[in-house]
Amino acid sequence: MLVYRLQGTLDNEELAAQLWEAGATGLEERAGHVRAYFDERTELDAALAGGEWLEEESRDWQAEWKRDLKPVTAGRITVVPSWLLSVVPPGQLPLIIEPGMAFGTGHHATTRLATEALGTLPLEGRRVLDVGTGSGVLAIAASLLGAAETLGLDIDPVTIPVARENAELNGFGDRAGVQRNPRTGGTLTFQEGTLDGEEEAGRYDVLVANLYAELHDLLAADYRAVLAPGGPLVLTGILLDKLPLVRVALEREGFVDVQEQHEGEWALVTARA
Ligand code: SAM
Repeated sequence: MLVYRLQGTLDNEELAAQLWEAGATGLEERAGHVRAYFDERTELDAALAGGEWLEEESRDWQAEWKRDLKPVTAGRITVVPSWLLSVVPPGQLPLIIEPGMAFGTGHHATTRLATEALGTLPLEGRRVLDVGTGSGVLAIAASLLGAAETLGLDIDPVTIPVARENAELNGFGDRAGVQRNPRTGGTLTFQEGTLDGEEEAGRYDVLVANLYAELHDLLAADYRAVLAPGGPLVLTGILLDKLPLVRVALEREGFVDVQEQHEGEWALVTARA
């Protein structure tokens, strides 16, 4: 394991940014020194001079895996594991996700695209539904962005306690099963289940779902039913070659203003009810 060790702390955001830029795969602070992990020895610019390269034997695979995680910036939000909170740039909203059993650390293109898309919507005071919440990342993002009421649904029961724990890490306190955003007072609820046609019509102002194209096709009528008129719909998890399925489903259900964004093999589709 290759480490570049130099004096300083991770409170020094400029130093951290320079090390990421130089190709560090992870940063750590120990006893007044920053340790930057690299895959190979790199020519560092003058601002990073004065440190030393160390070849260390690596034994702690769990810790190494953790170090390899970088913060993910998605619009106004930076998703980080708790041990990297100090490297979130000023002005960004930190969203802590502990990598665990549920999908959604922010590293997948679809999560990033959806988080970014949420950041462009006026969510203050809105009711948001996140279908397929996984780690809770998109529901927590919506609440941090000002939503008044957010519900995260997932058919996989394993995800619900994980999502609640992630909300807790972000300061959401719990009262009678309902968590609250400590800054805005907005409520955040995670529930096992899916859209089953039983929901109150027009209940939500915004719906986000990172599932897959075939499911969006199946659920499109329910999306339309639960969204208030004009409500934005944000769908991802869609492979590019499956886009036509989603386009046809949205047209069939009367969604308008359908727009697409691509990243690699993935697409995000937005529309209005
Ligand atoms: N929202 C997170 C994100 O954006 O990173 C996680 C998305 S992950 C790709 C999809 C999640 O949807 C999984 O946790 C899975 O259990 C859940 N899921 C799959 N089918 C579902 C359905 N019909 N209704 C609700 N959730 C579903």
